[in-house]
Amino acid sequence: MPGLYQIADAAFRGLILSNAEVECLYDGGRWLEGPLWLADSEQLLFSDIPEDCVLRWAPGMGVGVFSRGGHQNGRTRDRWGRVVACEHGGRRLVAREPDGRLSVLASHHQGKRLNSPNDVVARADGSLWFTDPDYGILTDYEGVRSAPEQPACHVFRLDAGAGEPQAVVGTMVKPNGLAFSPDGQWLYVAESGGSHVAATPPEIRRFAWQPGGALQPAGVLATLDCGLPDGMAVDEHGNVWSSAGDGVHCFAPDGTLLGKLHLGCVTSNLCFGGPRGNRLFITSAKRLFALHVAVRGAPEACAAAPLETRQAPR
Ligand code: MG
Repeated sequence: MPGLYQIADAAFRGLILSNAEVECLYDGGRWLEGPLWLADSEQLLFSDIPEDCVLRWAPGMGVGVFSRGGHQNGRTRDRWGRVVACEHGGRRLVAREPDGRLSVLASHHQGKRLNSPNDVVARADGSLWFTDPDYGILTDYEGVRSAPEQPACHVFRLDAGAGEPQAVVGTMVKPNGLAFSPDGQWLYVAESGGSHVAATPPEIRRFAWQPGGALQPAGVLATLDCGLPDGMAVDEHGNVWSSAGDGVHCFAPDGTLLGKLHLGCVTSNLCFGGPRGNRLFITSAKRLFALHVAVRGAPEACAAAPLETRQAPR
């Protein structure tokens, strides 16, 4: 792809492979989201939200339908290895048990239904952190049009084994993608409220994790100069790779723009994967892309295999 790489800082040259090319692994989705690499089965799960299906890609196998229902969006794995997914349709956070049954992890906050959980990440302490904007209930396209019950679009923390999520951020217009720094000390949250509230800056906010699980606002990591931030992925050095209006933008932990991947389209989310964790999987509206890079994804505590063998809490 001509002009794929834009070098904004010399450090970006160390993160990319100048001779690597973008591959399109799937074309024909409506709105793809939520890529997650499953290292133990060497396959990638991703969502087509309007089509209400979860797709699976594996090397040499192509793409097939993994499951249907719930209008799932973002996903991660918890410390027991379960795939945890955000459901627009069910307005809940669910975990897929080994037998395929879904356990509901969170559906309400203070007695009221969640809006439409959008993206979720796990922290090494077993907690799950998810955003709850209202995209999935605004229309019947990515969920079921419904009235919001929550007074705001929160970021929630769900402690391991807890039945009720705790609101940890309530000041964002539409919090969307989120990611932890490799040491778990910083949480990055994308603000995509500009989709509906024009004055909302397309920022990636930064929060400092506090013992006990509270968050301290710590300013803005970066403001995109093209499109809105949605999903993000963090590499082993703590650089933040963000979806954007023209592809992927990569920021250093201090917010310096390192470079961009010009894909010529809006992207929605991305993750590191592949056997060595050095392949970026990127969802756009219609397509799933892959690109080998010179850096590995952060060794997410829950991305590879179960950390605990005892049964997950019910
Ligand atoms: Mg999202």
